[in-house]
Amino acid sequence: MKYPVLAYHKISYQWEISFTMMYPAQFEKQMRYLAKKGYVGCSLKEYLADPKDNYFVLTFDDAYESVFTYALPVLEELGFHASVFVLSKYIGELNTWDFSPGNILSRHMNGVQLRELHQIGWEIASHGENHRVMVGMNSDAVSNELSHSKEIIESIIEDKIETFCFPFGVYNPEIVALAKTAGYKHLVGFIGHSRYGVISRSVVYRLVDNRFSVLRKIHVNLPCHIIENMKEFLFHSFSLLTRLKQKLS
Ligand SMILES: [Zn+2]
Repeated sequence: MKYPVLAYHKISYQWEISFTMMYPAQFEKQMRYLAKKGYVGCSLKEYLADPKDNYFVLTFDDAYESVFTYALPVLEELGFHASVFVLSKYIGELNTWDFSPGNILSRHMNGVQLRELHQIGWEIASHGENHRVMVGMNSDAVSNELSHSKEIIESIIEDKIETFCFPFGVYNPEIVALAKTAGYKHLVGFIGHSRYGVISRSVVYRLVDNRFSVLRKIHVNLPCHIIENMKEFLFHSFSLLTRLKQKLS
């Protein structure tokens, strides 16, 4: 089962060599177009509770402050909600975990901002502690990523969280089982096919996507969706640079 789930990262004017950042005006154009076509953006939690035909899921990986600053106002105006995937060790901090040519850093949302999003109906969920690939970690470290992050984020929003998003979309059956044991109901990967019940997504890229391709991405049962998947696989391979940086550090 494939759900119409879009994945965004930074919505920012701060230019960098990054495929996943997007200018606010570009993001706004895409959202207004989908709204004009009758679609409503919602969080994953809302979608799974009531998957209406005209709903699509909006997700923001890494919970960057730029999403709060630039995406939130337009989404509020359109009446859309989203899910944000938070790194519990980087709340309010700079993204030193990431590979960024030129060392251009971006700040993650702080606790006050996360609480505000939670209060207006966004889903706040976990992306682990450190944005590390979890496959290959010992099971204690995996449990820390899953359980510590859950406790910290829950204490900030003063509510339970239900969803875990795997860093880099990398997981295996053992990690999926540990995530369920840690109390997560929904598990989110990245692009490609859903395996072991993990929900896959379509990533939106600044250089190759526009409002028409975003519409194709949420039409998950039409053939045009496959073209989008192929594009996403190609661009996703660049995230290997971050994984390489983490291996070397
Ligand atoms: Zn991420």
